[in-house]
Amino acid sequence: MWTIDVRPGKENFVPQALLRKSNLAELITLLLGRQKVVGPVSLGNDQFRFAEINSSAELSLDYLPTILPPKKYFLPPHEMLLHYDIAAGQQMQALAEVEELVLFGVHTCDLAGIQCLNMIFSDRPRDLHYLLRKNHLTLIGLECNDCCDHHANCALLHTHLPKGGYDLFLSDLGADYFVDIATHKGEQLVAAAQLFEPVTAAAQDALATLRRNKKERFKSTLPMRYEDLPYLLEETVDSAIWQQVGEKCLSCGNCTNVCPTCYCFDMVDEPQLDLSKGQRVRTWDSCQHETFAKVAGGESFRAERAARQRHRFNRKFNYPMARYRRLFCTGCGRCSRACMAAIDVQETLKALIEERGR
Ligand code: SF4
Ligand code: SF4
Repeated sequence: MWTIDVRPGKENFVPQALLRKSNLAELITLLLGRQKVVGPVSLGNDQFRFAEINSSAELSLDYLPTILPPKKYFLPPHEMLLHYDIAAGQQMQALAEVEELVLFGVHTCDLAGIQCLNMIFSDRPRDLHYLLRKNHLTLIGLECNDCCDHHANCALLHTHLPKGGYDLFLSDLGADYFVDIATHKGEQLVAAAQLFEPVTAAAQDALATLRRNKKERFKSTLPMRYEDLPYLLEETVDSAIWQQVGEKCLSCGNCTNVCPTCYCFDMVDEPQLDLSKGQRVRTWDSCQHETFAKVAGGESFRAERAARQRHRFNRKFNYPMARYRRLFCTGCGRCSRACMAAIDVQETLKALIEERGR
């Protein structure tokens, strides 16, 4: 039997392993025996979603980005935060609905999105509901060997390679998965499963070749460096392109709902008619809705759609750099795929780059 020993002084610890593909079904069965497992599932017509599975046969591991990102398991679209019941003698009480869950097959772009959310909700004031739920989630990542489609630009955003944010990470080497073990939870899982094998020199070489090939396959479609995007947004603040984008936009909010890094929410108190019971509920909101920036007196900070679109782009490619030293776009392309008005992030950035160059 091969196990991992992480005690101090055990120099032979290698946080990597191999999983034969023929053992994947058994691994999923083992996970299902402990808690719920969710993974990418096909909806047909090249549409996928993260959903609970009952066996590995339901997984679609060769998938395009799911309609909604896995943020729905960290920040549910509808979440009760507080509740009260006067008959039971209760004042407002906090409530956090959490469950043990394995998220299987999460791509690197979505892992990057979760890292963004972790930063936001760990910042003060810390969001205890989010952080509590996060502690009950186990993340098993899966590397993309090919780029999704023309909407995606993970190469520009540097999210096409694994950069942490997972417990285990699987890279497809053909007959085997190369497994990177990133956390104690991941180590425990590997040790308990007894399905993993030590890495070989040949597997190390195969992983290095895979990563070399990815350099050729994953090319940014924009003539701009990641670091320069905030300057582009600063310098095009008065561009007429925002007006053109605003005229097309329907203010539906699809783009922010499907975005792995958008986290804005609304809070509503919902008392029963006799006020004997009630709850405070958090729901997803969108900066693209006309009501979002409305304040007392009916004034709105961003009454025009053009201003709301410019704000969305700044929230992805400019403002987070100042506070978190990273951009909040993962290049997943979901917003462009989901937009009924065919507003494409890459095309919009390209137009801004061309205009600024003139
Ligand atoms: S999905 Fe498209 S139309 Fe809808 S708010 Fe976003 S940019 Fe506007
Ligand atoms: S802005 Fe669009 S491409 Fe960027 S992370 Fe959000 S959904 Fe993905």
